[in-house]
Amino acid sequence: MPRSKRCPHCTHQTLQVNYYHGEEVDVCRQCGGLWFEKGNLDAIIAAKDARVEQADFTDNLGQVLGPCDRHCPDCARPLQTCHLLPDYHLDVDVCLQCDGAWVERESVSQVSKSSAIKHALESMNGGVSWKTWVFQFLLRLPVEYNVKPRSTPWVTWTLIALNTLIFLLYAFDTRTFNAVITHFALSPAAIQAGDAYWTFLTAVFLHGSLLHLAGNMYFLWVVGANLEDALGKLRFLGLYLFCGVAAGVVSVLANLGSTIPSVGASGAIAGLFGMYALWFPNASLTFMFFVYQKKLAVYWYFAIWLALNLFGMLAGGQGVDYWAHIGGFVVGLALGAALRRRVWAANPLLAHLAGPEVQLRR
Ligand SMILES: [Zn+2]
Ligand SMILES: [Zn+2]
Repeated sequence: MPRSKRCPHCTHQTLQVNYYHGEEVDVCRQCGGLWFEKGNLDAIIAAKDARVEQADFTDNLGQVLGPCDRHCPDCARPLQTCHLLPDYHLDVDVCLQCDGAWVERESVSQVSKSSAIKHALESMNGGVSWKTWVFQFLLRLPVEYNVKPRSTPWVTWTLIALNTLIFLLYAFDTRTFNAVITHFALSPAAIQAGDAYWTFLTAVFLHGSLLHLAGNMYFLWVVGANLEDALGKLRFLGLYLFCGVAAGVVSVLANLGSTIPSVGASGAIAGLFGMYALWFPNASLTFMFFVYQKKLAVYWYFAIWLALNLFGMLAGGQGVDYWAHIGGFVVGLALGAALRRRVWAANPLLAHLAGPEVQLRR
């Protein structure tokens, strides 16, 4: 009969044998902590993610932070606190004698997600290089550093294909171009006349120039893929269209009486920016100041973007619907704040990656 193991945390409590993903673990009924014997923790992490080789983690522990006041339930030696992951505060207490590992209750879900967290941190903490510099210098577009979406972003790709196809169908013939703008662009005067309400929706799928289309579609591709993954396909499509229409309403209210037509997906995409900033606060986008490229936290990037729009609006700049951008962004922020708790509950990995445990390299 083996000697009963005592909880390293509660000391007087006996651990009970349990099975988790087919591996034996010892559970403390009082504090909920888990004791893994050699190899069992790696096996459980590997079972959660096919990409992980067994013994990937506890054989390659991050920094050893030093002994803690807990003792190994098997060999009674002091346990050592170790970082399980680089760039992430995820500590486990390990026995260097028998390679057993103690995981506290609060850390259990993070440990079971650790391989996904590790892969996400690798892409979030990638550095700027000559390639990212050349890309942004030539195209004037930011490079994104964020968790890779798990699912194929079919809705995002379809929206990009649809916008491009529509543009190709009307933009190269002046008569067709003018006819399409007359009937399907958003005109505040026409809306006030009680006419053409459909243009709130159709204007979202039109663009004024190739550059306008390309810039919008790049940003849709960057933020759309992650949001579609977090929300699910239909909800993502619904919120995209909702933000586009809401941005149109703001634009009409701000430009009452105007006969200048407004087109573009920018208002809908600005709405996506608002949600993205709130759900992926530890993501980064690069910003280029003349020739100096820097990774910025998304909220700084969008703050600069918003400031440029406010400046353009106050300066009375023509040719850009600043109010649609600002309106879409504010609606996106409101939706982002209202839905954040639900989105994070449905995507615990995103909640982990938004937390202060993440150590970012910017
Ligand atoms: Zn305990
Ligand atoms: Zn031990």
